[in-house]
Amino acid sequence: MTPTDTMIMDALRTVDDPDLHRDLVSLNMVKAVEITDSDVRIGIELTTPACPMKDRIRSDIVAAVTAAAGSAGATLGKVTVDFTADVRRPNEKTQDKPSPLPDVKHVIAVGAGKGGVGKSTVAVNLAVGLARHGATVGLLDGDIYGPSLTTMLGLDDVAGRMQGNMLMPFEVHGLKAMTIGKLVDPEKALIWRGPMAHGAFKQLATQTEWGPLDYLVIDLPPGTGDVPLTLAQLLPLTGAVIVCTPQKVAQDDARRAVRMFQQLGVEILGVVENMSYFIGDDGKEYDLFGRGGAELLAQAMNTPFLGPLPINMDLRRNADAGTPLANWDSEPLASELDRLVQNLAAQISIASMSGRLVQPTLSVT
Ligand code: ADP
Repeated sequence: MTPTDTMIMDALRTVDDPDLHRDLVSLNMVKAVEITDSDVRIGIELTTPACPMKDRIRSDIVAAVTAAAGSAGATLGKVTVDFTADVRRPNEKTQDKPSPLPDVKHVIAVGAGKGGVGKSTVAVNLAVGLARHGATVGLLDGDIYGPSLTTMLGLDDVAGRMQGNMLMPFEVHGLKAMTIGKLVDPEKALIWRGPMAHGAFKQLATQTEWGPLDYLVIDLPPGTGDVPLTLAQLLPLTGAVIVCTPQKVAQDDARRAVRMFQQLGVEILGVVENMSYFIGDDGKEYDLFGRGGAELLAQAMNTPFLGPLPINMDLRRNADAGTPLANWDSEPLASELDRLVQNLAAQISIASMSGRLVQPTLSVT
């Protein structure tokens, strides 16, 4: 006897997505089952191309199919699992206001309690990392008081383009990017009063011709000022990432940023501990700032921890040179970045499927 479709589907009903805690069939992730003699080929559509659980899902499927065939007395040949990905939109039921960017599936804000902790660096590398996995990604420099993406993306000599009254994003490093740094004189200090900041951000976000995107990553100004408020009320956010260095003083500021998003009803997708430690030429790890501090903060605030990012000279060099893709030529940096990217992608899928997303409201107490 050879395996049957029913046997395979029943086996797949016993395999849970390890992040989403539901079985592959009810999650509608099984896209194909082909049986040729005793060989079985299964097509699984993941909720993100950056899924960190591929290997685990594959081995769980092989184990379940092998067990099902064994107990039915069927002869089983080779089991092949093919992965594709389709980034799913957040649970629609909870989004009651139409988005001004209907073709963008997920808006992810990257914030920090204070400046200089590496927020822009993390935003750039999360965006580039998601794109490297095959996702369609936009990156918006919403740090209108101190835009750094012109430098970090190497846009100095690239001319901006308009089409009608829409800004065309810069297509660089596999991303679509937009920064106010290309629209105003970089030598002039950007002094925005509240309403101007609100207007400038709104224009950048909604008058850029993003086209369809899986993820739009937004680099916010540090702190808890006008722009995060505007953003939370303007666009339906899947959630926010908070970048924090390990020191106590940085944690205190990050805690305020986490609370601000929570008060706005915005999900915290995770905390990144930047400048977590330093690996010297001697190969030793030096905990300059008290490694683990941001992880403790994440635990205390009951939010996911996306991982640490050590101090790394290549990261700084490639940021200054505007060549973020070169970070993936440098180990262990590439693996460290990719772990953050995959953990973020998983948290986005979890938040989207769980129906926890709500339209932000501001309650002042
Ligand atoms: P923020 O956006 O929080 O103000 P930036 O991302 O602009 O911070 O980073 C500030 C500086 O620190 C930049 O020169 C950047 O290249 C550098 N930097 C950030 N994170 C790291 C790191 N993990 N290792 C080395 N340099 C870093």
